[in-house]
Amino acid sequence: MPNRFCAICGKKLGREDPHFGMCLTCFLKEHPLFKLPDRLSINICLDCGSYSKKDIWIEPLDNELFSIIEEAIQKFLLKPFEKKNNIDFTLNINENSFIFSSKDLLVSLEVEIIGVFKEDLNIKHKHILSLNLNHILCKNCTNLRGGTYFIAIIQLRVKDEEQFDLIKEVLDEVNAYAENLFEKNHKHYISKLENQKFGVDLYLSTNELMNYIIKFLKSKYYFLLKRTKKLVGRDSQKGRNLYRLKALIKFLPVKIKDVIFIGDQNYYVENITKNKIILRGENNTKLIKDYTYFFNEKIIKNKL
Ligand SMILES: [Zn+2]
Ligand SMILES: [Zn+2]
Repeated sequence: MPNRFCAICGKKLGREDPHFGMCLTCFLKEHPLFKLPDRLSINICLDCGSYSKKDIWIEPLDNELFSIIEEAIQKFLLKPFEKKNNIDFTLNINENSFIFSSKDLLVSLEVEIIGVFKEDLNIKHKHILSLNLNHILCKNCTNLRGGTYFIAIIQLRVKDEEQFDLIKEVLDEVNAYAENLFEKNHKHYISKLENQKFGVDLYLSTNELMNYIIKFLKSKYYFLLKRTKKLVGRDSQKGRNLYRLKALIKFLPVKIKDVIFIGDQNYYVENITKNKIILRGENNTKLIKDYTYFFNEKIIKNKL
């Protein structure tokens, strides 16, 4: 076999260089293992560390800046290569390239992206990416800082002053519940509380939070629930109407074992179901009433 030489650099080719008349080094220069843009610009939320390329914000797995950067590069640039799963990528953040803003925020840096072909470790490629970081507030944190953002309202109500302790108890529980949820997902929070004569209004950041709270309360309390929705505008981008949802929760003014005077005798509350109250009279007669009865009628409670 006659000697063969690299068409580009003239190096003598060996058996390990069957790359269309080129040596491996020159072949890889002509046919890089992967191609990526030279620049990437991402937004990072000042408050929560979420990142985005355009409108959609993603919560990072870890809130540390370098891991946010690596996660964003994975998501925005390397994801298409994941499917083939034939390249191992390593990212090196070049600390000498750091440029800081006047507020000491890292605004620009270089990241070295090295990819190695899994089937032949000699085949690799190095790419230098210039990364720009825009430090802004994500939608959610903008609303949070604004403080008055809400899209749903829960109205907690009791029938009279006697039940004010109940409102306090429920409020404490709902607050703890919502704080817990907020830890898991910053979308959900109570943005405002407003005292009313017979209860309190909760202003909520999401409709889901409203449903979660209703479900949570249903597992512990008996109440009448009335949902309403009001048209408040239109989302022209998504082409749909925007509604503000409201849920009125009226806590039942009686509980099991209460004694109530109805007609001409005393009844005690034997049981409460999802929408009925089972009463037992002094002469053992059974009486079944809807929840609404106890809101519409004046209830005379007796202590036996
Ligand atoms: Zn060559
Ligand atoms: Zn944020």
